[in-house]
Amino acid sequence: MNSEITTTVNKLLNGRKNIVIVGHKNPDGDAVGSCLGLYFFLKELGHNPTVIVPNDFPDFLKWLPGSETITIYEKSVDHSLALISDADLIFTLDFNSLGRIGAMQTPLENSSASFVMIDHHQQPEDYALATYSDTTMSSTCEMVYVFIESLQGLHLLDSKIATNLYTGIMTDTGSFRFPSTSPSTHRRIAELMEAGADNAIIHQNIYDTNSPDRMKLLGLALKNLVILREYNTAYISIKQRDLDDNNFKKGDTEGFVNYALSIKGIVFAVIFIENKQESIVKMSLRSKGDFSVNDVARTHYNGGGHINAAGGRSSHSLNKTISEFISILPAYKIALSQ
Ligand code: 5GP
Ligand code: MN
Repeated sequence: MNSEITTTVNKLLNGRKNIVIVGHKNPDGDAVGSCLGLYFFLKELGHNPTVIVPNDFPDFLKWLPGSETITIYEKSVDHSLALISDADLIFTLDFNSLGRIGAMQTPLENSSASFVMIDHHQQPEDYALATYSDTTMSSTCEMVYVFIESLQGLHLLDSKIATNLYTGIMTDTGSFRFPSTSPSTHRRIAELMEAGADNAIIHQNIYDTNSPDRMKLLGLALKNLVILREYNTAYISIKQRDLDDNNFKKGDTEGFVNYALSIKGIVFAVIFIENKQESIVKMSLRSKGDFSVNDVARTHYNGGGHINAAGGRSSHSLNKTISEFISILPAYKIALSQ
């Protein structure tokens, strides 16, 4: 974080402030962890922070310290609007565009608070007074660690902050295996463990709390796996009916796409998930190496993300979305064969 941002943030945090911290729609471990890590840090500094997320987050994150304090916009619109209108400062975490927060976009655009963005996604929009964007960072949680360090606050790290930040770094790096995991990431993780993050418990709470329904859905997803050897590509599709038959809950399909990517020789993997309520097909795209799924998601699926992990959606039927997907692959054939 450069000294200009540090100076601006220090000025903004002068005196006790009402602060709203916002994570993206369909919050994941990094969004929730970074919001809560920052929440506890700002509380330690004597501010009055609140975390608001657009919609609910998966049960496997509901044990995180402070998760019970999170306001879910969709469920408490009036309360959220009051918090936003009282805010002196708004931190937006783990997203790069106000289009990523659904119905919260308009109230945030109309707010007169000062904005601070902390985020690691590609191509950040320019809406904040202070934009701390670094696309080389493993996670927003790692950036919150650097943010705390830049404000000379590392002595305030406690087990609540450490547990939240550890969790987001762990989930966004696929447990420290993606290329975004740097030597510095490991050093910061070591500091977080020393501050009270229990790695074994955190791992267990996130990865070993599967429901039988989720496991059945995974079986079905793997049955639906299609491999397109010519393009080193594999995809999985899940119909709304399959979700309904297996009592789908938020977060149940998280990580499924990685099974497609784990096949030897596959460099591009996609999961298509039908969502009849919203009349869309939600897609998660993953890659190995230089093949940019951020580009594919931006060009074809009104989405974005990172080089190796991105998301998007299609408003066509599931079948049409898949046949269109297959039809765009020849344009990427050379990029996919490297
Ligand atoms: P996932 O596939 O796990 O939902 O998301 C992968 C990455 O892409 C995450 O960093 C997520 O924030 C980002 N992402 C997911 N969906 C979208 C989208 O619709 N638009 C943009 N810009 N980014 C997305
Ligand atoms: Mn992230």
